[in-house]
Amino acid sequence: MRIINSSEELNSIRFSDKKAFVPTMGNLHEGHMSLVNFASKNYPTVITSIFINPLQFGKNEDFSNYPRTLKKDIKLLEEFGSDYLFLPEKDFAENLQLIKPKFANVLCGRSRPNHFDGVLTIINKFLSIIKPDVCLFGLKDYQQQLIIKDFVKRHKINTEILSLPTVREASGLAMSSRNNYLSDEARLHCGKIYSTIKKIADCIESSSNTDNFDSFREDALKDLKKDNFVIDYLEIVDANNLTKPLTNSKKILIAIAVKYESVRLIDNIEIFL
Ligand code: AMP
Repeated sequence: MRIINSSEELNSIRFSDKKAFVPTMGNLHEGHMSLVNFASKNYPTVITSIFINPLQFGKNEDFSNYPRTLKKDIKLLEEFGSDYLFLPEKDFAENLQLIKPKFANVLCGRSRPNHFDGVLTIINKFLSIIKPDVCLFGLKDYQQQLIIKDFVKRHKINTEILSLPTVREASGLAMSSRNNYLSDEARLHCGKIYSTIKKIADCIESSSNTDNFDSFREDALKDLKKDNFVIDYLEIVDANNLTKPLTNSKKILIAIAVKYESVRLIDNIEIFL
């Protein structure tokens, strides 16, 4: 795997094949590797980036102590078939005009006000430099991939945005770099986040009458609070626009963010009606 240390170096490479791009912040786990693995199986050239994007962290968030595990990450990327690793220079996020995305004022955007501006601004820079044929994201960050898909479509950017399923621990907990902050016991307990939204999904599948959604949600909130989760949000929305579902909504999203022992965890399930 060739390591590229600057945008200049990246620009000097003549890629002849179709390129798949996987942007990450490092501290790679099986969730990230599912994207790299899919890319390497389906595209001749795979470029992965590791960049801890300062623009997407709020003042009190974990930017300075975000886990940095480059050696281990390089090994994993080589094992899973990434051809290039792009490590942007320190000033990559400087002097950029922040982009204001659509769909950013709800769910995670409500408690992390400028988060998606930062995400989209950097992804847009990556896309304009790399010009990948396809760029891969995880459905774990549902709102993120929706925002990027919408932006790419509206701006007619010639990159296909592909979203792949959430990879989970055996307990059901969605894999995340933040899981490392939890004890083994806490990780097991946090499997409850997925089982709770799965239960809502099952209820919606057997009664897709939107009048019942509030009661499914209220019951789930009660359960979660009993289990010591601090709720940021638990929402049942139309998956295409993140607004209140209508009777003719075709796809529903159950999205959740909670804190457990001060660690913020997110998850979601899509339901096709
Ligand atoms: P991050 O390093 O957190 O920015 O994540 C990089 C990419 O990996 C994003 O597209 C995430 O949605 C994706 N990702 C993170 N965790 C998972 C997971 N558990 N399953 C699938 N994709 C994931």
